[in-house]
Amino acid sequence: MMKDYDIAILVVAAGRGSRAGAGLPKQYRPLAGRPLLAHTLSALLKIAADARVLTVIHPDDHGLYDDCLTSLDKVHAERLLVPVHGGETRQESVRAGLEALASSQFPPHIVLIQDGARPFPNEPLIVRACAAALDHGAAVPALLVIDTIKEVDEGGKIVATPARSALRAVQTPQAFRFDLILEAHRKAAEAGENGLTDDAAIAEWAGHAVHVFEGEIDNMKVTSAEDLAVAERRFLKDLLDVRTGQGYDVHAFGPGDHIWLGGLKVPHDHALVGHSDADVLAHAITDALLGAIGDGDIGSHFPPSDPKWKGAASEIFLAAAAEAVRARGGMIAHIDATVVCERPKIGPHREAIRESIAKIVQIPVDRVAIKATTSEHLGFTGREEGMASMALATVRLPL
Ligand code: MG
Repeated sequence: MMKDYDIAILVVAAGRGSRAGAGLPKQYRPLAGRPLLAHTLSALLKIAADARVLTVIHPDDHGLYDDCLTSLDKVHAERLLVPVHGGETRQESVRAGLEALASSQFPPHIVLIQDGARPFPNEPLIVRACAAALDHGAAVPALLVIDTIKEVDEGGKIVATPARSALRAVQTPQAFRFDLILEAHRKAAEAGENGLTDDAAIAEWAGHAVHVFEGEIDNMKVTSAEDLAVAERRFLKDLLDVRTGQGYDVHAFGPGDHIWLGGLKVPHDHALVGHSDADVLAHAITDALLGAIGDGDIGSHFPPSDPKWKGAASEIFLAAAAEAVRARGGMIAHIDATVVCERPKIGPHREAIRESIAKIVQIPVDRVAIKATTSEHLGFTGREEGMASMALATVRLPL
């Protein structure tokens, strides 16, 4: 990257994404183990090593945004600015981001405005964007249109066939001299101009010549549920290092009226005894995850000798192990665990336990299996002196 100018990348992620179907806003949907927006931020921080990155988010999405940050490289993430809140429209959201940059200590010289739902930017594209902004003041990545485009009326009748050679499909990042696009956005807002759908249109509206530079065919925008599936397949192709870890844990019964299993409180006529909350299942899965990434065990991360962990909720340990997988750029493909006890009966709680674990490790519930068995009254579990649990975790890491 060139270093003689100051670049900020504004990532627009405040939308609700209704075209991708029900559920989370699309930019927070998990794809190959982490949210779509985390893929976008991770790619930008990595390939634009001199840029600050500011994300515009919906005011309701702070928790979702914070979840995105857990999977980012810690050194790269230092260039992320505190997110700002977007407005009712994309135009308002971008302006909120530009104003935040304008009031920062060092407003940038160049700003690249990127859709949060375009997770495949590459370095040549960013280099071209910066060069085009310097050369022209306002420029957008564009591709030649391959299909013939027809203009139709409301009845579906074709009314015009524009010359294909003059058409371009436009992507992001759109690239601008910062003062130019800030001024254009301010003018449009003052004029009550609200119907402009991209930043190039705002620069055009303000009277600036906007140029195109070469886009990238792979720089897809994720809009529909089908796009989510296509994007996930592309990410999975990078996670070829498949590993399995195993974990095993035992806790003794003592007095009490409930036990913890996978972060779920289960009524019982005894409790399990331990330094933490003695969640035998969460401990086995935590060790399986740590085993899969070769990162010690639960005792080395959360030593029982440390008073900090006395009575601790084991979901902290489990969540930390899952985060360690994400921090490696990986995903948890599957968790399969068995609980060994005569009582309590696990069956009635199985689905709730699966859901609890899925939520803690942030994967879909269909990637979590929980099984239970007695030991036919044999051994310490058979004598109801305690419970045991075994777990396998399969993770996929970048090769
Ligand atoms: Mg334990």
